[in-house]
Amino acid sequence: MDYRGRFAPSPTGDLHGGSLVAALGSWLRARQAGGRWLVRMDDLDPPREVPGSAEAILAALEDFGLVPDEPVLYQSQRHAAYAAAFERLKSQGEVFACWCSRNDLAALGGIHRSGRCVTPPQDDRPPAWRVRVPSGMIRFDDVLQGPQRQDLATEVGDFVLRRADDCWSYHLACVIDDAFQGVTEVVRGRDLLDSTPRQIFLQQRLGLSTPAYLHLPLALRADASGKLSKSTRDLPLDHVNPLADLRRALQLLAIDAIPGDDVESLLQAAVGHFDPHRIAYRQQVPWPAAG
Ligand SMILES: [Zn+2]
Repeated sequence: MDYRGRFAPSPTGDLHGGSLVAALGSWLRARQAGGRWLVRMDDLDPPREVPGSAEAILAALEDFGLVPDEPVLYQSQRHAAYAAAFERLKSQGEVFACWCSRNDLAALGGIHRSGRCVTPPQDDRPPAWRVRVPSGMIRFDDVLQGPQRQDLATEVGDFVLRRADDCWSYHLACVIDDAFQGVTEVVRGRDLLDSTPRQIFLQQRLGLSTPAYLHLPLALRADASGKLSKSTRDLPLDHVNPLADLRRALQLLAIDAIPGDDVESLLQAAVGHFDPHRIAYRQQVPWPAAG
């Protein structure tokens, strides 16, 4: 099977250092495998989105030499596909309406268990829709982070597929679109490692194949004492002179001291030097300082 990788930003702000590392990591994997690199805009949550951000992210990627091989897919145009998958799960009896609030579930450790609601149906507001999660361990081997396991029923519980405000969940949309785009390997930030078992579970329920996964450490700003920022959005990039930021992102992908006086030649050299197994497998890493 031909390699197909993707970068899937949410248009909630500018491309930053952390997302550049994820974009670059996925691009390098695809280039090294002689495959295709796709970009998908995860624009499913209008209240959180920043107007103009999708266009700004695509322009920034181009400044850094990262141009998708196929037209960008927008999740905001994919509602029919998510609805079809949702109806399929519903017809399989795996989805239920739920009026439980976060407060209602607090006494249960925030976990919705065994399809059993603690709040009865209510006429005055729409429900969220959850998928019923049976007990059993979900396992997968992350290319960088190694063997992973999660018991969804006890660690996550029945999770939301469609919110009460009618937004589709990230997990459902991600699984449907990864399958639609024929993605063979998902390369993304370590903050999504815990989401992966939910996505594998949905792939299994929907009869979709599971891609390989590679979760990269999160690049964060460090202060003078070395303490890391909590926000991954804290690393603005220099689009006018992208070479220095590109070298920083490459450094976090364990690519150091390679030749290249412009974006294109640096990227070409990086393809030959990339070995994901040399990347730090820590959860968080400091964004390299200037100089
Ligand atoms: Zn409930």
